[in-house]
Amino acid sequence: MYFDEGDRVAVLTTQPLDRALDYLAPEGGCHLGAFVEVPLGPRKVIGVVWGPGTGDFDAAKLRRVNRVLDVAPMREELQDFLEKAAAYTLTPMPAMLRLATRAPGLGDPPSMRKVYRRGEGLPERMTDARRRVIAALDDFGGLAFTLKELADMAGVTSSVVKGLVKLGAVREEDAPRDTAFPRLDPERGGKDLTEDQAAAVAELVTRARAGSYATTLLRGVTGSGKTEVYLEAVAECLRQGRQALVLLPEIALTAEFLARVEARFGARPAEWHSGVTMTERRRIWRMVGEGGAELVVGARSALFLPFRDLGLIVVDEEHDTSYKQSDGVNYNARDMAVLRASICAAQVILASATPSLESWANADAGKYARLELTSRFGEAVLPQMRAIDMRAETLPGSRWISPTLQGEITARIEAGEQAMIFLNRRGYAPVTICRACGHQIGCDHCDARMVEHRFQKRLVCHQCGETKPIPSACPSCEAEDRLAPVGPGVERMTEEAQLLFPDARIATLSSDLFGSARSLKERIEEIATGGADIIIGTQIVAKGHNFPNLTLVGVIDADLGLQGSDLRAAERTFQLMRQVAGRAGRAEKRGLALLQTFQPEHKVIRAILSGEEEAFWTAEAEERRAAGMPPYGRLAAIVLSGSDLQQVFELGNALARNDGPLRRAGATVFGPAPAPIARVRGRHRVRLLVKAAKAAAIQPALAEWAGAQRLTGDLRLVIDIDPQSFF
Ligand code: ADP
Ligand code: ZN
Repeated sequence: MYFDEGDRVAVLTTQPLDRALDYLAPEGGCHLGAFVEVPLGPRKVIGVVWGPGTGDFDAAKLRRVNRVLDVAPMREELQDFLEKAAAYTLTPMPAMLRLATRAPGLGDPPSMRKVYRRGEGLPERMTDARRRVIAALDDFGGLAFTLKELADMAGVTSSVVKGLVKLGAVREEDAPRDTAFPRLDPERGGKDLTEDQAAAVAELVTRARAGSYATTLLRGVTGSGKTEVYLEAVAECLRQGRQALVLLPEIALTAEFLARVEARFGARPAEWHSGVTMTERRRIWRMVGEGGAELVVGARSALFLPFRDLGLIVVDEEHDTSYKQSDGVNYNARDMAVLRASICAAQVILASATPSLESWANADAGKYARLELTSRFGEAVLPQMRAIDMRAETLPGSRWISPTLQGEITARIEAGEQAMIFLNRRGYAPVTICRACGHQIGCDHCDARMVEHRFQKRLVCHQCGETKPIPSACPSCEAEDRLAPVGPGVERMTEEAQLLFPDARIATLSSDLFGSARSLKERIEEIATGGADIIIGTQIVAKGHNFPNLTLVGVIDADLGLQGSDLRAAERTFQLMRQVAGRAGRAEKRGLALLQTFQPEHKVIRAILSGEEEAFWTAEAEERRAAGMPPYGRLAAIVLSGSDLQQVFELGNALARNDGPLRRAGATVFGPAPAPIARVRGRHRVRLLVKAAKAAAIQPALAEWAGAQRLTGDLRLVIDIDPQSFF
């Protein structure tokens, strides 16, 4: 669709308005979907020509679009996706559009695109701020950054950078022209596939050739070759001249994956995530739109890139909870991948060794096709799994590695193999308690305990990120030197391991111990090539990393995730334990996974040990079905927050009372009740749950219901469709 000069167009901007606004098309006209700059009050903002003007605005007062930006117009398919995603997640359109316009410098004319890199020498007068800028540039030897990027990295204002440019210590240059990514060669030769793998590939290729939407759940134990299989689906997609997107749950995983892509296709794909520089992100954004990027590997936000012809989306480790995070918009990347693919006639592959119950149920219901790889590739066999009954182990106080586990670790180290100790808890100790008065140190702003991080020598709140020094006196009774750490975190496990295995090289992997995704990536590569004997880690070690020499995994507390009342606890624990265990014995040596537990007869622990997955999922599905819970029922969580607890509860009560729209839609409201963490950053949080039958269209009812309440003061209401936890 083309609008002639002076036609009315509706322009949607990322400004928090509740609708698109009418403008007159710019001189020379514009396409539907064009990115434009429009006047808004005294400002100029970026927007997208969303459709013909509504005519709701007074013609005499209409303003004209300033200019059309030099980027490809947004395709109708992407507009459609954003609208449907917004309707499903009940997200206002401007917030949705923001996800799709995260291209730095989008609105800048080419002449304004400057980048900054290290120049010659040092300024005579060094200030702290200047030092940080130079250190940031030196850290990334040779790379160039935009002004904002560099200033943010160094934590300085842009004038500090500009000052250094004048002194020659930083060089300002025109940004390089965006260039296409090297072509990938689908025929470069994959591996010889096993019979199972070849059968799976054949089906995926058939579906790709059909050229219509389809979703396949590709299930296979770790090491069975799921990645090999979906790379062949990528190859087929490339042969057809369409683009492919592979989503990975963890930035740190991309290094290994990129190397595999390069080995298979002879070149590296585009890499999209928060650790990628802004100039590179802008290049990807443009190239994806112009067809100069055939394959994108990235984080969930890559779903909103302006693909020209997207033919395949792979969601690797599809069960991973990081696909659902609240970063302003509450969406599950797995579900949004399916939605986007259904709009652009693409194929989706959901790969996992331990699929989510949602996908499992969708496959059962025939909505997703199902492919299985049943054995590990080559000589590798699944690890043996055993419980260590902690009731029968004797351990001194403040020690967590049982004698049995200690013995096994020693044996591995002596054999020149690697062992992993897994504990899903960051920091040194989860609780710091005063032995004189029993006071536990909490966060001043949250209902949460401060967690000791000994490597940083600080207490950290895992809710709001607030940190404080570890006091010497109890903040409550002022007793000196009576504060004691209680319980283990990974840092404490490191200390214990150093004590038990003084000669071993120990590597601790926890997301907070690495300044950047890059340094974590490097450390993981180093470990994979033999740079450590014992790896101690939180859940970041559970995900897809390949440590060929690792033959033992010891889980310190297998019961950890089973506490609490969340109905999803069993599923999560099952997935996490199977996943961690899967790290052991990936090459020719058989692995062993040992689970320290106080309840070896617990049904989830038994299922993990026996590996009888079908039985576990069937039982789990039965329980959910009986309770009308997802994936057999529909759930939405509403979190209300504000600085005044009483006001927040009053709003909750009012919502619960006025549930007419929901009742008419067949939904029931539970609550209000304090949220699992009842106060975060000084804001009280109250939660309501809305439950309905699977088929109920609850979004319009939710919108009507929540929209009827006026939010006064600092009250806020956030709706989360398909929440992760079912309290
Ligand atoms: P998954 O994704 O299921 O964990 P991968 O695709 O990573 O499994 O395969 C596990 C290991 O086995 C990898 O090192 C991979 O290169 C290798 N592998 C799998 N299938 C084959 C094959 N057909 N030929 C050669 N190597 C293979
Ligand atoms: Zn806090």
